[in-house]
Amino acid sequence: MEHISDNIQEVLDNIKQAAEKVGRNKDDITLIAVSKTKPVEYIEEAMRSNILDMGENKVQEIRHKYEVLGDKVKWHMIGHLQTNKVKYIVDKVCLIHSVDSLKLAEKINSEAIKADKIMDILIQLNVANEDTKFGLMTDELTNFITAVSKLSNLRIKGLMTIAPYVTDSEDNRHIFREIKQLAVDIKRKNIDNVNMDILSMGMTNDYMVAIEEGSTMVRVGTGIFGKRDYNKR
Ligand SMILES: *Cc1c(COP(=O)(O)O)cnc(C)c1O
Repeated sequence: MEHISDNIQEVLDNIKQAAEKVGRNKDDITLIAVSKTKPVEYIEEAMRSNILDMGENKVQEIRHKYEVLGDKVKWHMIGHLQTNKVKYIVDKVCLIHSVDSLKLAEKINSEAIKADKIMDILIQLNVANEDTKFGLMTDELTNFITAVSKLSNLRIKGLMTIAPYVTDSEDNRHIFREIKQLAVDIKRKNIDNVNMDILSMGMTNDYMVAIEEGSTMVRVGTGIFGKRDYNKR
């Protein structure tokens, strides 16, 4: 735990370096600390370093941590979301990164209406990732966005992807580039309720390359909080 603030400083330095390399401003990139499986005390340590955006992938875990920290943290839902659990988090999270079906979008919309809230969402794309079955195929994107844009209480803010696990981050560069290009293409269509301000891409192993290719949100877990131990839980 004593390493968390050092790790954050290192990640922030790397973000700055990657941004400057391609003439971008580091302030245009948000660092999301992925706190899944980690205790509340770790999150509080990150907060002391001024990191207030936390990424979680389980509804139950968000509910538990929200009870303690509430809105002191901006919660990001980054994991696969089941429709029957949407109701538990719509009032708690600032952004749902993982929308990949119309059924899910419609459910988030109806729960957002009940909560009297506009819910910001990203569309999750599956670009050549055989490790995960989640995410929309890129050729479905335009039709999907057109349909979702008609839902009254959703705002599409951009795209998200989980690139494959690779040892050489350069291997994922073409994926980040493709997502950026898709965002540019969608933006040109000027669809109501849709903007492409956010590109959520890049994790511990590849966030610098993602930033060079236009990422505006990087989701870093291991690089901040250390390895996750799934056996403990
Ligand atoms: C776990 C997770 C991350 C963080 O992964 P690290 O490799 O530990 O940085 C990022 N995004 C999603 C969707 C995740 O589930």
